[in-house]
Amino acid sequence: MSVWQDLPGQPEAVATLEKAVRNRADNLHHAWLFTGPPGSGRSIAARSFAAALLCEQGGCASCQTCLLVKTNGHPDLTVMATDRVMIPIDDVRELVEMATYGSTMGGYRIILVEDADRMVPRTANVLLKALEEPPADTIWLLCAPFEADLLPTIRSRVRKVGLKVPSTNDVARLLVTRDKVDGQLAEIVAAESQSHIGMARRLATSPDARARRRDTLTAALEIDNISTAIATAERWLELAKKDADALNEERDSEERATFMANFGLDPESNLPPALRANLRRIEESQKRRATRSLRDGIDRILVDLLAVYRDILMLQLDGNRALVNQDLEPTLRRVATSTGTARTLEITDAITEARLRIESNVRDLLVLQSLAVRMIWKPL
Ligand SMILES: [Zn+2]
Repeated sequence: MSVWQDLPGQPEAVATLEKAVRNRADNLHHAWLFTGPPGSGRSIAARSFAAALLCEQGGCASCQTCLLVKTNGHPDLTVMATDRVMIPIDDVRELVEMATYGSTMGGYRIILVEDADRMVPRTANVLLKALEEPPADTIWLLCAPFEADLLPTIRSRVRKVGLKVPSTNDVARLLVTRDKVDGQLAEIVAAESQSHIGMARRLATSPDARARRRDTLTAALEIDNISTAIATAERWLELAKKDADALNEERDSEERATFMANFGLDPESNLPPALRANLRRIEESQKRRATRSLRDGIDRILVDLLAVYRDILMLQLDGNRALVNQDLEPTLRRVATSTGTARTLEITDAITEARLRIESNVRDLLVLQSLAVRMIWKPL
């Protein structure tokens, strides 16, 4: 086992990181930037790297250190993930201060910023100062969708690790080997999730999540007047909430169980006082994650809707690439033959616009309602 097995289809990135871990005693660079589209595994890559740097065996994935890093419970790892549009400047100041503390276990102190792109220039400059004068043995791991999202002065100080969208085959293979998912199901969900690793795993292991996804998409294709549009938007929001809650609950209890098992404890037993600080660290990161899951869930619905209309467009153009939503094919064919390509593109634009509005913090339900209204069924 190794911490790199969670990064399918990224041989170049893994090679770079493994090399850095091997040669860490010489001159390990003090700041790294992980870029790549959502679902490609930016934060998984950063966390795996952190584990490999802190683990005595270079990232065995099974020792206490590796497991603590994976669940955000390691005392020398600080993870910043935000649920806000922009990270507040005071939060970054706090991180910078933490970077000066040094390691508690004698290795590195690692600061992982999941959304390094979410900083106004003034905030980014606080981070820049820290990167310019790095304390010994402090390692910064920044994650962002694109390199261009960061200030040039920050970009010039980091080593870059670019992640690609893994192929559906890579994702399917990971699900089969790591999560023991049936091969055929693995392929279907890898396509449905469009190679989003976390989502694919979830669709494969939770029939409820898959049913909710299907529900969301078929509802969209059945909007035929204003009142069904309004009702559908409410339903989407409700499904996104349910999905976010279920996801948080699963992840939280899984992390807690991993943490407890790691110390040979039953999940329900009382925690020895010495371990309470670690558990508190895990719980804090869980709380931050909960608030951002809903927004991610809504975006996921919109990405899934985009895939539906991409499938419809392909059927209309007689394209012969595989459909993302294979099991909706009969419905998609019916829609494809009874509307035109212009209409399909119009809806695609509306969905893209809705994604941007959600991101810029317009009220979720309003955005979904206006999208649903624009999707009202218009046959040829
Ligand atoms: Zn290890």
